[in-house]
Amino acid sequence: MNSFYELGTPYGDEKYELYGRPEWEEEFGRAEWTDAVHDSVPGIVCPVNPGHRRAGDRTMDLHIILSSPRVGDFVWTWQSECLITDRVLDLFQQAGLTGFEIRPVVVEKVKRLGKRRLEEIPRLWELVVTGKGGDARPESGIGVIYRCEACGMVRYSSYQNGILVDEQQWDRSDFFTVNGYPKYILVTERVKDLIIAHRLTNCVLIPAEALRWPDMPRPEDMYLIKGK
Ligand SMILES: [Zn+2]
Repeated sequence: MNSFYELGTPYGDEKYELYGRPEWEEEFGRAEWTDAVHDSVPGIVCPVNPGHRRAGDRTMDLHIILSSPRVGDFVWTWQSECLITDRVLDLFQQAGLTGFEIRPVVVEKVKRLGKRRLEEIPRLWELVVTGKGGDARPESGIGVIYRCEACGMVRYSSYQNGILVDEQQWDRSDFFTVNGYPKYILVTERVKDLIIAHRLTNCVLIPAEALRWPDMPRPEDMYLIKGK
């Protein structure tokens, strides 16, 4: 059986037993979208239920504002997009890792730039995960709890026992996501070993089965009870 890990953003109030440092959140900050990116995202409006209004998929390449000139090996946006430097991209490509594409990122502005110039900021790429893990194993607790035929909105229940990957459905990519949790980047042992061997900064690795639901309402408590 394979082991899988979530590759994610450091949070200052967490502890990371496997890999990652909480202080990286403050040290590296997060990147913001520019107004042009916000404006480019289409809105989805449900013809039946106004509560289903939401943002659609972003189509334009990321244009960002960095919170400081200090750039780690990974950069995360407030929308949880994962950005990597040339160095990390080289490492991933040389290792032959699969399950991702890259898109260019334009750094439009850097806060607290001081005397440094925008050109000195390392080039960044958006890591777009394309690998598929299918449905998580039922013991995860993850399943469809609500589906709107009118606008296509689908809600999945929370995970109760981490995210358990069904290896029969997994396409064997090194980077992949499971249905319902597109922002949780899952990676294989190979990726985990490479990140730790190179001590890559500003990312955390959590065993997928050890993921704990954050301090927020569970979707099943909001959707099952109200029935919408
Ligand atoms: Zn709807």
